[in-house]
Amino acid sequence: MSEQTRVRFEVVDGIGVITVDNPPVNALGPGVPEGIMAALERGEADSGVKAMVLMGAGRSFIAGADIRQFGKPRPAPARRTYDVLDQAGKPIVAAIHGYALGGGLENALACHYRIAVPSAKVGLPEVNIGIIPGGGGTQRLPRLIGPKAAVEMIVSGRHVSAAEAKTLGIIDEIVAGKDLRAEAIAYARRVADRRPLPRVRDMTHKLAAAASDAGLFETVRKSIARKARNQKAPYHCIAAVEAATREPFEQGIQTERRLFSELENSDEARALRYAFFAEREVTRIPGLSKDLVLPEIKSAAVIGAGTMGGGIAMCCADFGIPVKVLEASPEALAKGMQRIRDNYAISVKRGSLEQAEMEQRLPRIQPVDSYQAIAECDVVIEAVFEEMAVKKEVFAKLDAVIKPGAILLTNSSALDIDAIARATRRAPQVAGAHFFSPANVMKLLEVVVGEQSAIETVAAAMKLGRAIGKISVYAGNCDGFVANRSRAPFNTEMNLMVEEGASPEAIDQVMVDFGYPMGPFAVSDLAGLDISYASRKRRAAADPGYRKLPIPDRLVELGRKGQKTGAGWYRYDPSDRTPHPDPEVQRIIRETALAMGIEQRAFAGDEILRRLLFSSVNEACKILEEGKALRASDIDVMWLHGFGFPRYRGGLMFWADRVGSRAVCDQVEAWYQRYGARWQPSSLLRDVARRGGDLREIKSASIQAI
Ligand code: NAD
Repeated sequence: MSEQTRVRFEVVDGIGVITVDNPPVNALGPGVPEGIMAALERGEADSGVKAMVLMGAGRSFIAGADIRQFGKPRPAPARRTYDVLDQAGKPIVAAIHGYALGGGLENALACHYRIAVPSAKVGLPEVNIGIIPGGGGTQRLPRLIGPKAAVEMIVSGRHVSAAEAKTLGIIDEIVAGKDLRAEAIAYARRVADRRPLPRVRDMTHKLAAAASDAGLFETVRKSIARKARNQKAPYHCIAAVEAATREPFEQGIQTERRLFSELENSDEARALRYAFFAEREVTRIPGLSKDLVLPEIKSAAVIGAGTMGGGIAMCCADFGIPVKVLEASPEALAKGMQRIRDNYAISVKRGSLEQAEMEQRLPRIQPVDSYQAIAECDVVIEAVFEEMAVKKEVFAKLDAVIKPGAILLTNSSALDIDAIARATRRAPQVAGAHFFSPANVMKLLEVVVGEQSAIETVAAAMKLGRAIGKISVYAGNCDGFVANRSRAPFNTEMNLMVEEGASPEAIDQVMVDFGYPMGPFAVSDLAGLDISYASRKRRAAADPGYRKLPIPDRLVELGRKGQKTGAGWYRYDPSDRTPHPDPEVQRIIRETALAMGIEQRAFAGDEILRRLLFSSVNEACKILEEGKALRASDIDVMWLHGFGFPRYRGGLMFWADRVGSRAVCDQVEAWYQRYGARWQPSSLLRDVARRGGDLREIKSASIQAI
């Protein structure tokens, strides 16, 4: 498409209307800035044009830069739209609908007036991809709304509603009418003769306020210290806004450009861009064509209102899907419903949910007492006890009553999906929908594909996940599926290192320093040590060769089940959740290691980090080798959204590539020699390492086939 067709220019009643038309979201891809500049020049040159309007066709104003351009060599533009806008001699009105983000808002800020529809959203979210706004946003926004509000908006990268944007002073007027174009033309006519032109670059009075608030930027730096650790972009955002308060406009623009270019190819920007694209890639699944007709999902049922079932019902209600809840007994049902009400009430109390919103959501969750009552639901999500016999019984009952064409999903964590599907006569409509705890909070949904699951079922389950705010990722049917299976060796190694002398607090510290919000032992205490205790017992009973973990077993047997009992790997005071190292745990560790004949030794931080993560990288390669995951990048998405892996490190496999596939493989080989079978290297890891390739590029054979 040529730049002429990406940007249209027409004159209506003496107003030049510049319309960006670059589907789907009018990103500032190649040709768009040039098109805007050409249109501006036509408007300037045309004496019949008194003022101009800049707007977007389709869904949005301009949703931002084209992210694919970042990190690639590209010539510096001879001119920028912002400079051309600055030099304009006629008033220019940005008319915003949909999104004005990043470069989109920066263009609007370089216009003289901004109007928006009530549903519009604006923001400078560049920090989320590891950079800062690079089109003058860090210099104009503080001039327009003051440095305090500007630095908050730019550092958080959040979307701001039209109403808030009006209060802040970003938007001059919210237009209520249905026809934004007509409103914008009328507005432009009203301001056509006003002089001088209000150029944001010349507005300095709000900057003066910063001078009286000397500590502003230091306070912001301190407030983000925890969340932004190991990252540069949030600090560069602050530095750029600070420059706006200290330097003349043109010099501030130079500072912004310098800070931007320092970040564009930084490790964190690469990792964040990778994560952004990996999240988009997960929606592509083999065999899925655009014209496939998917079963529509307008109503849902959840079986089992325990920890997970309750959370899943809340997810449906939160996103407007009416959901019926069925339990094993009236008591269990009452208890489950009460927990749902309590959870919502806590959110209201914390201020994260409006009372009125809760009152809309709660009635969408309807308790029922028979299978008959859910017969017409479009999807059923089963979340009963993790026992094959119970699951089979439930699926046989579902098969008997649920309408044909509905999809039947199990939230099992590890059971064989095929065996569950065989309890029905409609295996093609059965798949796994593995949520993570707490289900109403965690973003990851693994859609587990059975041998007979139809592509329509899988696609509908993935779509349902997205409709309820999840990131759905395709997973093959194997023990632990993909996310937990790739994480399992990490869990083993953390326990074995404790036996060998690394303290839980040392291991936690290494992982927090790496970027996790909490260390793995603190997380175990939060989740409750009894869950993994029970699963170890089950596994030990089934497998005589199973390697027991006597230390966490002993903790549970002593009643130390984690935070809920005031003690686990750590000790907790009744009043708060801060983990305190406990000499009692140290004693248990020493005694157990002695009894097992394991010598305790010192560990370097890097050894801890590598032993935890390399074990999982090796397992992830085995999963890919077996075709149980579609792409290495899918596993990265799972780690980001299921396990709190720091996003600015891209994901497990992206991080491993930073170390280098060969270095990872060499270490895995060495640990295989030292520790034996559990470190058996994946042949795929060996292959990739041998050719010096990237692990994150691995795709399973089935996806290469499409
Ligand atoms: P839970 O014990 O909290 O809840 C299970 C609920 O199912 C109970 O309320 C029980 O009364 C009900 N139930 C049992 N048999 C039933 C039947 N025949 N009909 C209707 N209801 C029945 O367990 P949970 O932690 O919510 O786990 C549920 C499922 O989710 C399991 O398959 C589990 O493996 C899986 N899962 C759990 C987690 C987690 O962290 N807890 C995470 C992912 C998946």
